[in-house]
Amino acid sequence: MTKAPLSDALQRVAPSATLAVSQKARELAASGVDVIGLGAGEPDMPTPEHICAAAKRAIDEGKTRYTAVDGIPELKAAICAKFKRDNNLHYAPSQINVSPGGKPVLFNALLATLNPGDEVLIPAPFWVSYPDMVRLCGGEAVPIATRIENNYKLSAEELEAHITPKTKWLILNSPSNPTGSAYTSHEFEQLGEILLRHPNVWVLTDDMYEHIRYDGFEFCSFAEAVPSLYDRTLTVNGVSKTYSMTGWRIGYAGGPEDLIAGMRKIMSQSTSNPCSISQWAAVEALNGPQDFIAERLKVFAKRRDMVVDMLNEADGLACHTPKGAFYVFPDCAALIGKHTSGGVEIKTDEDFVRELLTQEAVAVVQGAAFGMSPAFRVSYATSTDVLKEGCRRIQRFCASLK
Ligand code: GLU
Repeated sequence: MTKAPLSDALQRVAPSATLAVSQKARELAASGVDVIGLGAGEPDMPTPEHICAAAKRAIDEGKTRYTAVDGIPELKAAICAKFKRDNNLHYAPSQINVSPGGKPVLFNALLATLNPGDEVLIPAPFWVSYPDMVRLCGGEAVPIATRIENNYKLSAEELEAHITPKTKWLILNSPSNPTGSAYTSHEFEQLGEILLRHPNVWVLTDDMYEHIRYDGFEFCSFAEAVPSLYDRTLTVNGVSKTYSMTGWRIGYAGGPEDLIAGMRKIMSQSTSNPCSISQWAAVEALNGPQDFIAERLKVFAKRRDMVVDMLNEADGLACHTPKGAFYVFPDCAALIGKHTSGGVEIKTDEDFVRELLTQEAVAVVQGAAFGMSPAFRVSYATSTDVLKEGCRRIQRFCASLK
């Protein structure tokens, strides 16, 4: 059979592990298995009614045609107002990009800026897609291992040690997917001091989990903490997590006008505009009532505490308590080298995750996909009952390893 002439760039990347595990869980459920999906980071709460109503209105009013490539003026205005309100960041509409999800925002920015061999610094553990996006765009992903003692946050020394003349971007993600760690404004200032000495390095800050935070943690966006780097920062955000709008696909960014224009050019030759109806829903999300967020956070906080406690009770797992997002990233080093009741040796976190799915039908994502092993990611953006059952099964699986 003739093989498709796949590109070299494609051979350098793997499919998204987070999406693969969710798909696997969906397939198992469809075949009748009582599967517990703790893989994808997707809030189980519905999109709020007022946002859905705005989308229905948009359809009824015929707002179903092409729009401006990188977002309707009404949405750009709502985003500018949001940046000012929540982050004290002043962006003009010409500095705003709206794309079909957070992923395309990142992709457009990388494609618009990377030349072959350009390096992108990515603190590990990282969200699965950053390195592969960099590779698809012709760049070199440079992971920087962070330490659990530093709550998986990049230190100024670690940053400086990895900067080379080829470094183009540093990607920051706070609160973090997968660890839930979050940087204080002082920690950002310390990173900023290093970056000020390296004028060719830009900062891409992914604030997707800005509103998902606990214990009174005060969120600060990078450019807010380090105003002198405003001109070299792309501030990325989206409506997916805060407003339970993962399927609507709306991400956005604020940044320097010439970078935003470059991203627009790429969209004009690829996706064109994000879905017109989703854009009107996002206008309502950003301009409408925000009080339900605090209510939902209370639910997430309870789930977090339950999951952390139950995982720490499991034999061989060590789980930290995160400050934000809806993930925990337990370490499973004590289980490596053990055997399942069927005699399979757990050599890696991939083995752990596979055997957990086979034996207990619980879907989680291996630490290797996030650049740190042996560990795994549990998403607690699912109902308390499901989570409790999932954690019970994880405990039973860990206890069965000998
Ligand atoms: N960002 C979410 C996650 O990490 C959704 C899936 C994805 O796009 O990776 O689970």
